Amino acid sequence: MKAVLDHVGIAVSDLQAALAFFKDVLGLHVERSEEVASQRVRATFLDTGLSTLEMLESTAADSPIAKFVDQRGPGMHHVALRVENIGAALAHLRSRGVRLIDEQPRPGAEGALVAFIHPSASHGVLVELKQPAAKVELFTTATRHVLGDLELITLSDGFIGLDGGAMFGIVPRMLWEKRLPPDDSNRVPLGMRPLIVRNGRTTMIIDAGCGDKMDAKSAAIFRLDRRYHLDHALAEAGLAAEDIDLVVASHLHFDHVGGFTAVRQDGSVVPRFPNANYIAHRGEWEDATHPHERNRASYLQENFVPLKDAGVLTLVDDEAEVMPGVRYRRSGGHTPNHQVLMIESGGKTAVFTADMYPTSAHVPDPWVMGYDLLPVETLAFKRAFAREAIEREYLLFFEHDPSMAAGYLREKDGKRFVERLI
Ligand SMILES: [Zn+2]
Ligand SMILES: [Zn+2]
Repeated sequence: MKAVLDHVGIAVSDLQAALAFFKDVLGLHVERSEEVASQRVRATFLDTGLSTLEMLESTAADSPIAKFVDQRGPGMHHVALRVENIGAALAHLRSRGVRLIDEQPRPGAEGALVAFIHPSASHGVLVELKQPAAKVELFTTATRHVLGDLELITLSDGFIGLDGGAMFGIVPRMLWEKRLPPDDSNRVPLGMRPLIVRNGRTTMIIDAGCGDKMDAKSAAIFRLDRRYHLDHALAEAGLAAEDIDLVVASHLHFDHVGGFTAVRQDGSVVPRFPNANYIAHRGEWEDATHPHERNRASYLQENFVPLKDAGVLTLVDDEAEVMPGVRYRRSGGHTPNHQVLMIESGGKTAVFTADMYPTSAHVPDPWVMGYDLLPVETLAFKRAFAREAIEREYLLFFEHDPSMAAGYLREKDGKRFVERLI
């Protein structure tokens, strides 16, 4: 199991006197204070960098902290270690014969789950295990939106964890961690959200998530979570893979087109949508099939070469109309031929922004991914696009946002924000 120091708990008999030392003399900053009714204690947290000091003051004479102070006087009370899965951690400890105070996790401060190890097992130190509350709400529900004569359905192929630094480029963690809190390995949770576009005749899907061909090692590195994936989402929308007529790629990175192909029982890789024609950009195809050291890990040949072999792939150029009312628009930047999809009907416009605005947190112009091959080109496109999106009220689809599928870019008093729709 992997455990990281979360906080050190200190029992105090007089909080003000304790703060006079820890806050005023040592100069530590008070983060927050919270009453934990179940423990009859007031907890005050002092920031010490990556972890905190927790001052514990009892609020009732018979509370555990009051008893501790009565018996031993104020002082260090416990050490809290943060774990990702407290159930698994407790099972591991039980299997090693470790004596526990809490056999089952129980609710702690801030929605965390906690459990204590008996000090007799941990060399006289009371150890708390803590699984913090998931700070990001993950959204999967297949959701319809009518745009003029078109029906749009946003789907989910589950979630992937990518390094937060790579996702936010030059933006310091101090800023992005508030928008997308990372786990202990610095990974931020990201959605994979293909979009269905339908008219009376054609059912099209834009991108298809990473699919199920990823090996176990990569799946662990990327914390792949496909408990709910594209097949579930299609079924929720009343569709099956056989119903898809047209499959379009924004670009050919594995987290967008892994779901374009599937492995048959005999090990061969075939088109995943058996009745569909596939569309990709000609320049993107050239780059994807001639990768270099910097983009090789993103372009996995098994995701697109089998489409050409099966004769179902059409390559098109900039501005190609892939379906009536839907056209490619080159954003470049992320890859030289990265495309967003402009979807227009009944005087309204929706945009599948792919890796140009991977999440709603990437709306500020300089918040460009470290993955981008040409970040200055991304910046130039974003700057112009944002004006357009605000003025013409584009509905923006965010392919990688973990909790928001689509929204409108707004500007008020010079500040930009996204108003969530789905
Ligand atoms: Zn990409
Ligand atoms: Zn991506």
